[in-house]
Amino acid sequence: VPRPAPWGPAWSPPKAAARPTSSIWLRSGISPVAHAAHILSPAWTAAASCLWTDGEGAPSPFFPARAAATPGRNPKTPGIIMDDRILLDAGSGGRASQRLISQCFMRHFSNPLLDRMDDAALLDIKGPLAMSTDSYTVTPLFFAGGSIGTLAVHGTVNDVAMLGARPRYLSCACIIEEGLELSILDRVVADMAAAAQTAGVHIVTGDTKVVPRGMCDKIFINTTGVGEIFASPVPSGHAARPGDAVLVSGALGDHGLTVMGSREGLSFLTDVASDSAPLNHMIADIITACGEVHVLRDPTRGGLATTLNEIAEQSSVCIDIEESLLPVHESVRNGCSFLGLDPLYLANEGKCICILPQDRAEAALRAMQASPYGKEATIIGRVAEDGKPGQVRLRTRIGGQRLLGMLEGAQLPRIC
Ligand code: MG
Repeated sequence: VPRPAPWGPAWSPPKAAARPTSSIWLRSGISPVAHAAHILSPAWTAAASCLWTDGEGAPSPFFPARAAATPGRNPKTPGIIMDDRILLDAGSGGRASQRLISQCFMRHFSNPLLDRMDDAALLDIKGPLAMSTDSYTVTPLFFAGGSIGTLAVHGTVNDVAMLGARPRYLSCACIIEEGLELSILDRVVADMAAAAQTAGVHIVTGDTKVVPRGMCDKIFINTTGVGEIFASPVPSGHAARPGDAVLVSGALGDHGLTVMGSREGLSFLTDVASDSAPLNHMIADIITACGEVHVLRDPTRGGLATTLNEIAEQSSVCIDIEESLLPVHESVRNGCSFLGLDPLYLANEGKCICILPQDRAEAALRAMQASPYGKEATIIGRVAEDGKPGQVRLRTRIGGQRLLGMLEGAQLPRIC
């Protein structure tokens, strides 16, 4: 009969091995896999094996036997992270940070420019350049048709493209809330990598900060993009001229309504999805086909109505649009009328407004419709020869006319 330990009460149950933490693994230097095999219960190990698989269901780098079967994966790569959630350590700049960067961000984003891992990216790029930055705080992080990761790439790529530029490089800065599940971060980063690949841009520099629980909501992402301008003249919100045609590249309001629906759990909005998409290739085709394009702009926050108002003000023109010509999906129209929303004020993340001389409108329309993201493109109106500068006039279906104002206040915050 074992003697009770003199330092503890006789009824103390034997202590289980401690759950691995960052500090244990950092200090011990032994592979987390060995660690896991040694002390973890099978259930935890099984759960861990689900982490860090990418979109195609590739094996986790946690497990050497499986990782070794995957070409390009180093089975000796120390396993990631300590826990299935992001700890404050991961933003410390120390080894935990390095591990997070190499095994999440670098794993998905790897390219020759990023892999140099110097203090700044070395870009071989000729001016004039377009540059744009945007921060993404959307909630929920995932929704039908996209995620904060796809938005963070598409939003910035599209803004750069709207200047008649070929987006080339992106930065990626993440502010992560302590406790975020690693699997969620991995999905977001995988989405960013896939979106960047589709758009043909490289993510060449980045930053990661972890803030204490409650100091941000799961993850905020900032991206900055640069691209080479090839359009001449350069499209600008100031360049709309009386007589120009006004086109939009597809249906309106899908993104805004989708995010609202998934946030509020509106189950009847099952057939709407975000239009989040990279428009740079379509924009290049429009400019190649038309030469002179006066205005390109993506109607994101504030929707079509607000963006047209901005253009009317900047160009000191009056813009007329026809309600009967505005493309809005039936499901979005129904959802909006149920919720008392106007699709003309809802955000889009994969649409552009194009204003150009009337005689080039058909060529622009064909270029848009040839793109997978512009199938529903249409001419929606023209820049008026008369009218008060700064106004947008909507001719209604029944033949009346009303002014479309700017969005007042926020119809829905944290939409992108
Ligand atoms: Mg924009």
